[in-house]
Amino acid sequence: MDKFRVPTVLSIAGFDGSGGAGIQADTKTISALGGYATNVLTALPVQNTQGVRTIYDIPTSAVADQIKAIFDDIYPDAIKIGMVHSVELVECIHQHLRDYHGPIVFDPVMVSTSGHQLIQDNTVAACKELLFPLATVITPNMDELGVLVGKEITHVADMESAGKTLLSLKCKSVLAKGGHLQESILTNLLIQPNNHIERYQTPRIDTENTHGSGCSLSSAIATYLAIGHHLEQSVEQAIHYIYKAIAEAKDLKIGQGNGPLNH
Ligand code: PLP
Repeated sequence: MDKFRVPTVLSIAGFDGSGGAGIQADTKTISALGGYATNVLTALPVQNTQGVRTIYDIPTSAVADQIKAIFDDIYPDAIKIGMVHSVELVECIHQHLRDYHGPIVFDPVMVSTSGHQLIQDNTVAACKELLFPLATVITPNMDELGVLVGKEITHVADMESAGKTLLSLKCKSVLAKGGHLQESILTNLLIQPNNHIERYQTPRIDTENTHGSGCSLSSAIATYLAIGHHLEQSVEQAIHYIYKAIAEAKDLKIGQGNGPLNH
């Protein structure tokens, strides 16, 4: 019988033993969408649905070795980068991915919903300089967007101008996520060069079970890109997938805090 291939997606991200965010969310998302997930672990946050208790580092050499092992064997059709919390890790990932020509989705993770800082202060500048130019799209939420441009984001119009500012910093495209704006309709903007802006809107679902939604969205985009869809289509389908996964998690009872999506 002929062998068949499935699109392979590498997630380079942090750990969530409670199963909602990080590489666990990525693996579930990629699998649910028909991809094959591989992982490189960047950090070991000790966490559950109630929050992050502490973060153990993974040595930079271990991250480098993991990337090499995957690239030597299961070459990724797309890559998602999530939690990268130190300058050394940014440099290591940059060094190993700079010759990769497939799509890269970078979710510049900074603070968890529960309020724990997931990135060291001096790392944001390194991400901008080294990882943004490698990414096909970056997916900041409005708080992250605010940190990246040094301005508070309070309206959709602010998201648009912040996205345009990031494009001028060698970002190929920006998906600005408006979920943290307290509006009944969520707006996400895909901002591309030449004033090319796509707006995606979904109704807000009243639930606290959204832990890992950003991780899942970025890995869903990476999976659709690995399948071969264009960026706009990939973003649209990924947003639809996350909307459904949150809707299906509405009445799910896992843990005492912000529960996971239902993949
Ligand atoms: N843990 C890891 C490893 C993450 O990458 C993230 C966010 O990207 C979180 C926790 C926080 O997830 P949330 O803010 O959805 O609770």
